[in-house]
Amino acid sequence: THFSEFLLPDALMRGLANEGYTTPTPVQAQVIPPAMDGVDLLVSAATGSGKTAAFLLPIMQRLIDVPRHDGSTRALILVPTRELARQIHIHFMRLGSYTRLTSGVITGGESKAHQIATLRKNPEILVATPGRLLEFLETGQADLSDLEFLVLDEADRMLDMGFADDVLAIIRYSRPERQSLLFSATLEQRGLSRITERLLRDPQRVDI
Ligand code: AMP
Repeated sequence: THFSEFLLPDALMRGLANEGYTTPTPVQAQVIPPAMDGVDLLVSAATGSGKTAAFLLPIMQRLIDVPRHDGSTRALILVPTRELARQIHIHFMRLGSYTRLTSGVITGGESKAHQIATLRKNPEILVATPGRLLEFLETGQADLSDLEFLVLDEADRMLDMGFADDVLAIIRYSRPERQSLLFSATLEQRGLSRITERLLRDPQRVDI
Protein backbone atom coordinates (compact mmCIF):
# COMPACT_ATOMS: atom_id res chain seq x y z
CA THR A 1 0.00 0.00 0.00
CA HIS A 2 0.90 3.63 -0.44
CA PHE A 3 -0.43 6.67 1.45
CA SER A 4 -2.13 7.90 -1.74
CA GLU A 5 -4.67 5.03 -1.43
CA PHE A 6 -6.15 6.68 1.65
CA LEU A 7 -7.26 9.76 -0.35
CA LEU A 8 -5.92 12.15 2.27
CA PRO A 9 -6.11 15.91 1.73
CA ASP A 10 -3.27 17.41 -0.29
CA ALA A 11 -1.90 19.31 2.69
CA LEU A 12 -1.42 16.03 4.59
CA MET A 13 0.20 14.32 1.59
CA ARG A 14 2.70 17.17 1.52
CA GLY A 15 3.30 16.79 5.25
CA LEU A 16 3.95 13.07 4.79
CA ALA A 17 6.32 13.72 1.89
CA ASN A 18 8.23 16.23 4.00
CA GLU A 19 8.67 13.61 6.72
CA GLY A 20 9.90 11.13 4.11
CA TYR A 21 7.06 8.69 4.80
CA THR A 22 6.19 6.77 1.64
CA THR A 23 4.75 3.47 2.85
CA PRO A 24 2.29 3.09 5.73
CA THR A 25 3.50 0.91 8.60
CA PRO A 26 1.33 -2.18 9.38
CA VAL A 27 -0.60 -0.38 12.12
CA GLN A 28 -1.20 2.59 9.82
CA ALA A 29 -2.42 0.30 7.00
CA GLN A 30 -4.87 -1.43 9.36
CA VAL A 31 -6.06 1.59 11.35
CA ILE A 32 -6.37 4.46 8.87
CA PRO A 33 -9.12 3.03 6.57
CA PRO A 34 -11.61 2.00 9.32
CA ALA A 35 -10.83 5.13 11.32
CA MET A 36 -11.63 7.25 8.25
CA ASP A 37 -14.90 5.29 7.94
CA GLY A 38 -15.90 6.40 11.45
CA VAL A 39 -15.44 3.04 13.20
CA ASP A 40 -14.36 2.80 16.87
CA LEU A 41 -11.10 0.87 17.23
CA LEU A 42 -9.36 -1.17 19.92
CA VAL A 43 -5.73 -1.44 18.84
CA SER A 44 -2.80 -3.33 20.31
CA ALA A 45 0.34 -1.61 19.07
CA ALA A 46 3.72 -0.91 20.63
CA THR A 47 5.75 2.27 20.65
CA GLY A 48 7.75 2.54 17.45
CA SER A 49 4.99 0.97 15.33
CA GLY A 50 3.93 4.27 13.79
CA LYS A 51 0.76 4.40 15.92
CA THR A 52 0.90 8.18 16.36
CA ALA A 53 0.40 8.92 12.67
CA ALA A 54 -2.17 6.07 12.57
CA PHE A 55 -4.52 8.13 14.75
CA LEU A 56 -3.38 11.64 13.79
CA LEU A 57 -3.94 11.25 10.03
CA PRO A 58 -7.65 10.17 10.15
CA ILE A 59 -8.37 12.91 12.69
CA MET A 60 -6.60 15.58 10.66
CA GLN A 61 -8.32 14.37 7.47
CA ARG A 62 -11.79 14.82 9.01
CA LEU A 63 -10.97 18.17 10.60
CA ILE A 64 -9.75 19.46 7.23
CA ASP A 65 -12.45 17.92 5.01
CA VAL A 66 -15.33 18.75 7.38
CA PRO A 67 -14.33 22.20 8.59
CA ARG A 68 -15.99 23.97 11.50
CA HIS A 69 -15.25 27.46 12.63
CA ASP A 70 -17.18 27.62 15.87
CA GLY A 71 -14.16 27.46 18.16
CA SER A 72 -14.80 24.04 19.65
CA THR A 73 -12.34 21.34 20.64
CA ARG A 74 -12.94 18.62 18.08
CA ALA A 75 -10.33 16.01 19.03
CA LEU A 76 -8.74 14.96 22.31
CA ILE A 77 -5.70 12.71 22.63
CA LEU A 78 -5.25 11.48 26.20
CA VAL A 79 -1.81 10.19 27.15
CA PRO A 80 -0.14 9.00 30.37
CA THR A 81 2.86 11.36 30.47
CA ARG A 82 3.93 14.90 29.73
CA GLU A 83 6.78 13.59 27.57
CA LEU A 84 4.44 11.55 25.36
CA ALA A 85 2.12 14.56 25.02
CA ARG A 86 5.05 16.66 23.87
CA GLN A 87 6.15 14.04 21.32
CA ILE A 88 2.64 13.69 19.88
CA HIS A 89 2.30 17.46 19.64
CA ILE A 90 5.56 17.71 17.70
CA HIS A 91 4.42 14.88 15.41
CA PHE A 92 1.14 16.72 14.81
CA MET A 93 2.88 20.00 13.99
CA ARG A 94 5.21 18.31 11.52
CA LEU A 95 2.48 16.36 9.70
CA GLY A 96 0.23 19.41 9.82
CA SER A 97 2.72 22.05 8.73
CA TYR A 98 0.76 22.67 5.51
CA THR A 99 -2.60 22.85 7.29
CA ARG A 100 -4.26 25.51 9.41
CA LEU A 101 -5.19 23.06 12.16
CA THR A 102 -4.57 24.27 15.69
CA SER A 103 -3.54 22.32 18.76
CA GLY A 104 -2.72 22.74 22.42
CA VAL A 105 -1.02 20.70 25.14
CA ILE A 106 -2.47 20.38 28.65
CA THR A 107 -0.27 18.49 31.12
CA GLY A 108 0.53 18.44 34.79
CA GLY A 109 3.65 20.04 36.15
CA GLU A 110 3.43 23.15 33.99
CA SER A 111 2.06 26.66 34.50
CA LYS A 112 -1.73 26.75 34.65
CA ALA A 113 -1.90 30.36 33.50
CA HIS A 114 -0.21 29.47 30.24
CA GLN A 115 -2.55 26.51 29.72
CA ILE A 116 -5.64 28.60 30.45
CA ALA A 117 -4.46 31.00 27.74
CA THR A 118 -4.06 28.00 25.42
CA LEU A 119 -7.62 26.82 26.15
CA ARG A 120 -9.02 30.30 25.51
CA LYS A 121 -7.68 30.09 21.95
CA ASN A 122 -9.95 27.06 21.42
CA PRO A 123 -7.48 24.70 19.71
CA GLU A 124 -9.20 22.10 17.55
CA ILE A 125 -6.95 19.34 18.88
CA LEU A 126 -5.92 18.90 22.51
CA VAL A 127 -3.17 16.57 23.68
CA ALA A 128 -3.51 16.08 27.42
CA THR A 129 -2.70 14.07 30.51
CA PRO A 130 -5.82 13.13 32.49
CA GLY A 131 -5.32 14.83 35.86
CA ARG A 132 -4.73 18.39 34.68
CA LEU A 133 -7.40 18.22 31.95
CA LEU A 134 -9.97 17.01 34.47
CA GLU A 135 -9.22 20.01 36.71
CA PHE A 136 -9.93 22.35 33.78
CA LEU A 137 -13.14 20.47 32.93
CA GLU A 138 -14.35 20.78 36.53
CA THR A 139 -13.77 24.54 36.54
CA GLY A 140 -15.38 24.94 33.12
CA GLN A 141 -12.16 26.19 31.53
CA ALA A 142 -12.09 23.22 29.15
CA ASP A 143 -15.14 22.04 27.21
CA LEU A 144 -15.52 18.69 25.44
CA SER A 145 -19.22 18.96 24.66
CA ASP A 146 -18.56 19.16 20.89
CA LEU A 147 -15.83 16.51 20.81
CA GLU A 148 -15.74 14.41 17.62
CA PHE A 149 -12.68 12.24 18.37
CA LEU A 150 -11.37 10.79 21.62
CA VAL A 151 -8.08 8.86 21.52
CA LEU A 152 -6.55 7.01 24.45
CA ASP A 153 -2.88 6.39 23.73
CA GLU A 154 -0.84 3.92 25.82
CA ALA A 155 -3.98 3.02 27.76
CA ASP A 156 -2.16 0.26 29.66
CA ARG A 157 0.33 2.78 31.06
CA MET A 158 -2.50 5.13 31.93
CA LEU A 159 -4.06 2.37 34.05
CA ASP A 160 -0.68 1.51 35.65
CA MET A 161 -0.35 5.15 36.68
CA GLY A 162 -3.75 5.12 38.38
CA PHE A 163 -5.58 7.33 35.86
CA ALA A 164 -8.60 5.01 35.34
CA ASP A 165 -11.08 7.11 37.32
CA ASP A 166 -9.86 10.37 35.78
CA VAL A 167 -10.20 8.87 32.29
CA LEU A 168 -13.75 7.69 33.03
CA ALA A 169 -14.65 11.15 34.35
CA ILE A 170 -13.24 12.79 31.20
CA ILE A 171 -15.26 10.40 29.01
CA ARG A 172 -18.41 11.56 30.84
CA TYR A 173 -17.60 15.19 29.93
CA SER A 174 -17.30 14.33 26.23
CA ARG A 175 -19.98 14.25 23.56
CA PRO A 176 -21.53 10.74 23.36
CA GLU A 177 -21.64 10.82 19.52
CA ARG A 178 -17.86 10.96 19.28
CA GLN A 179 -15.60 8.42 17.51
CA SER A 180 -13.15 6.74 19.90
CA LEU A 181 -9.83 4.98 19.35
CA LEU A 182 -7.93 3.11 22.06
CA PHE A 183 -4.26 2.16 21.69
CA SER A 184 -2.48 -0.09 24.16
CA ALA A 185 0.67 -2.23 24.11
CA THR A 186 -1.48 -5.02 25.55
CA LEU A 187 -5.23 -5.52 25.49
CA GLU A 188 -5.04 -8.04 28.34
CA GLN A 189 -4.43 -5.39 30.99
CA ARG A 190 -6.49 -5.67 34.18
CA GLY A 191 -9.11 -2.99 34.35
CA LEU A 192 -9.00 -2.18 30.64
CA SER A 193 -12.49 -3.54 29.99
CA ARG A 194 -13.92 -0.99 32.43
CA ILE A 195 -12.57 1.73 30.14
CA THR A 196 -13.36 0.09 26.81
CA GLU A 197 -17.00 -0.55 27.83
CA ARG A 198 -17.56 3.14 28.52
CA LEU A 199 -15.44 4.46 25.67
CA LEU A 200 -16.05 2.28 22.60
CA ARG A 201 -19.14 1.47 20.59
CA ASP A 202 -19.04 -1.77 18.49
CA PRO A 203 -15.25 -1.54 18.29
CA GLN A 204 -13.23 -3.26 15.62
CA ARG A 205 -10.14 -4.91 17.06
CA VAL A 206 -6.72 -4.49 15.42
CA ASP A 207 -3.83 -6.67 16.62
CA ILE A 208 -0.40 -5.85 15.29
P1 AMP B 1 5.43 6.00 16.80
O1 AMP B 1 5.24 4.51 16.99
O2 AMP B 1 4.18 6.69 16.39
O3 AMP B 1 6.09 6.63 17.98
O4 AMP B 1 6.44 6.18 15.55
C1 AMP B 1 7.74 5.65 15.58
C2 AMP B 1 8.66 6.32 14.55
O5 AMP B 1 8.33 5.92 13.23
C3 AMP B 1 8.60 7.84 14.57
O6 AMP B 1 9.90 8.33 14.57
C4 AMP B 1 7.90 8.20 13.27
O7 AMP B 1 8.38 9.43 12.78
C5 AMP B 1 8.26 7.04 12.35
N1 AMP B 1 7.23 6.75 11.34
C6 AMP B 1 5.89 6.69 11.55
N2 AMP B 1 5.24 6.35 10.42
C7 AMP B 1 6.17 6.16 9.47
C8 AMP B 1 6.12 5.76 8.08
N3 AMP B 1 4.97 5.47 7.47
N4 AMP B 1 7.30 5.69 7.41
C9 AMP B 1 8.46 5.95 8.03
N5 AMP B 1 8.59 6.31 9.33
C10 AMP B 1 7.46 6.41 10.05
